[in-house]
Amino acid sequence: MTLDDCKRLDAQDPLAALRANFILPEGVIYLDGNSLGVLPRAAPARIAEVVTKEWGEGLIRSWNTASWFDLPQRLGDKLARLVGVGPGEVVCTDSTSVNLYKVLFAALSQVLEATGDTRRRTVVSERSNFPTDLYIAESICRERGFTLKLIEARELPAVLTDEVAVLMLTHVNYRTGAMHDMKAITAAAHAAGALTVWDLAHSAGAVPVALADAGADFAIGCGYKYLNGGPGAPAFVWAHPRHVDRFAQPLSGWFGHAAPFEFTPHYRPASGVSRYLCGTQPIVALAGLECGLDSVLAAEPLAGGRGAMAVLREKSLALTDAFIALVEARCPGRFTLVTPRAHAERGSQVCLALTEGAVGGGAYAMVQALIARGVIGDFRAGDARMPDILRFGFTPLYVGFEDVWNAVEQMVQMLEAEQWKLPEFNQKLAVT
Ligand SMILES: *Cc1c(COP(=O)(O)O)cnc(C)c1O
Repeated sequence: MTLDDCKRLDAQDPLAALRANFILPEGVIYLDGNSLGVLPRAAPARIAEVVTKEWGEGLIRSWNTASWFDLPQRLGDKLARLVGVGPGEVVCTDSTSVNLYKVLFAALSQVLEATGDTRRRTVVSERSNFPTDLYIAESICRERGFTLKLIEARELPAVLTDEVAVLMLTHVNYRTGAMHDMKAITAAAHAAGALTVWDLAHSAGAVPVALADAGADFAIGCGYKYLNGGPGAPAFVWAHPRHVDRFAQPLSGWFGHAAPFEFTPHYRPASGVSRYLCGTQPIVALAGLECGLDSVLAAEPLAGGRGAMAVLREKSLALTDAFIALVEARCPGRFTLVTPRAHAERGSQVCLALTEGAVGGGAYAMVQALIARGVIGDFRAGDARMPDILRFGFTPLYVGFEDVWNAVEQMVQMLEAEQWKLPEFNQKLAVT
């Protein structure tokens, strides 16, 4: 693959025009949309309008006149189109961590009451799951008398015994980019009598997700990664209609009440997924998230009826294939591919480990040296079980094939100049 090939692929790319919907700084190749998505061009004006008009002029009236009150549901309906569920099944609210607390608690209530089986006292998750998910699960398990069992992915489905209440997985692994087969694993969990909780933080807006088709039970996900909702954007929550009205989630705030403005002294949950709201919603942040959701749904008219994620996925796989091929051709022997090669097992990112010195071998400094050259990826530290990782996320909305070429070209130059040895790239920052 040559630079000309990459330019040709960009010229033929039906999604290329979508890049104009974003504000990207000059001279930056942004391969970190899996940590913080890029600013949609529409967001600054929309957020300013919410602040100066809806807040500044409308004041309290805007809860009604600007439809603030049903914003979590309205955004949820947009998000539903990206994860394969119907309108009215999703709300956008709170953080991923907080939403996980709600759904895991509800799922455990469901198992306890549905089966009354005192032997089902285990929650299973992956040791390499994102730490906040494990921390939240640890806390709930401690409170409710469950045991959190951490496994490696290869131990599925054998670990699904009749002691398991809930299988809690992140669909696409944040470190490796490996993707689970949601449908097969959900079926195996159900066959074992367990419920599933899926974290879609690296899936929503990144890969096609079909929650209803998979028969999943509960899902949550993140608004500021591939959905471009802005730093700390509200996250989302989905509960299958067969579960949603059976249990109140534990954070029983007034926005999840059936009639919040009756101001009654006792909690009565709203019907449907609205009960997963807690307190007053962050309207300015939700406005930013709406711009992000619209930036993804802008691919829909280009998809010929197949849905935005179908066309985005095609380009995402072509981008990650090209990046893998170019790294292997132009940096031979330097890196080991951590992300699975098989399309069905890969999210929208590529992770590399150093072939030599897998931990403490300079991966952090290489990422810093690349950032100084305008190629923004990130670093995730390894340990005794996992190597240090250079992580590159590919968002097909605004990344093109020439970007892939240029990113690898910068990598080649960085390696040739041995820039990772420079002290300035070896100082650890607070956020990696
Ligand atoms: C990014 C991410 C989160 C983030 O949770 P916050 O509550 O937004 O900090 C949670 N889980 C996974 C799997 C993630 O990738």
